[in-house]
Amino acid sequence: MIAGLPLLAWPVRPVLSILIYHRVLPVPDPLRAGEPDATRFDQQMRYLARHFSVLPLREAFRRLRAGTLPRRACCITFDDGYADNLTVALPILEKYGLPATVFIASGYLDGGRMFNDAAIDALGAASGDALDLEEIGLGRHALGTQEKRRAAIGAVLEELKYRPPDRRETDVARLVELCGCGELPRDIMLTSPQVGELSRRGVEIGGHTVSHAILTTLCDAEARAEIRSGKERLEELTDKPVKVFAYPNGRPQRDYATRHVAMMGELGFELAVSTSPGVANSISDGFQLPRFTPWDLTMPKWGARMLLNAWSGKAMAIC
Ligand SMILES: [Zn+2]
Repeated sequence: MIAGLPLLAWPVRPVLSILIYHRVLPVPDPLRAGEPDATRFDQQMRYLARHFSVLPLREAFRRLRAGTLPRRACCITFDDGYADNLTVALPILEKYGLPATVFIASGYLDGGRMFNDAAIDALGAASGDALDLEEIGLGRHALGTQEKRRAAIGAVLEELKYRPPDRRETDVARLVELCGCGELPRDIMLTSPQVGELSRRGVEIGGHTVSHAILTTLCDAEARAEIRSGKERLEELTDKPVKVFAYPNGRPQRDYATRHVAMMGELGFELAVSTSPGVANSISDGFQLPRFTPWDLTMPKWGARMLLNAWSGKAMAIC
């Protein structure tokens, strides 16, 4: 009950909180400290079930527009298409009867691996106390402690993120070689049958392009093809129309632009989400709905940060 106290100050005007997750790990991973494990995710879902009205995304948006959104309305979303969304998160969501949406980059299904996971796993497993990545323009890094390894991962990911996809692919392959950690696991993303299973068990499947390309780095024809092909593949797998989309990386103007927002309606989407913090209100652009997830480890703080986000949309800036 105490954990829910901050929520007494929740805004009276209708606002919609859309939470964003990526993975839910079976057990904590110190190299992925930002990702909840099953225990933490369970606490957060129990809290939402107790204190919020958790709605399917499209229904919540329709009710926001119609003025019938319940107080403390919230949606749960996952990005990218990790297998643990099915194996770890879904049983917890089902336990509390909570709906969710999973946005999938279709090109990584069936054994794919996103560049960030390759870099994290390779740097995490690299032997030795130092690593020279100068030949691929990624600097030299000390790896002697967990803290240093985390710092190296952060620096490498930031640099890789905005490289052109072809070059990034080659550089990551070389990075894995230089780390000398052998073959990395190939089962972290969903398989095609698992996408069908998520959909059959009531999870809404949303588009997230094919290759997770940052749309502003593509010409319009390429961006449209990425968005459309990803959507079509997911529709084949689920036998349902895909009506919702999440922009890869999701920062307005930096990762997607006004021209991509215009493509959403043309390509048959009902709504799209960004990674801009804040809450949606009755006049928000339905093709740029904000998302946010508190990162705090205790539930009173977690709830307080939900509240700050609901009031200001600036909770990211408050420690
Ligand atoms: Zn993503």
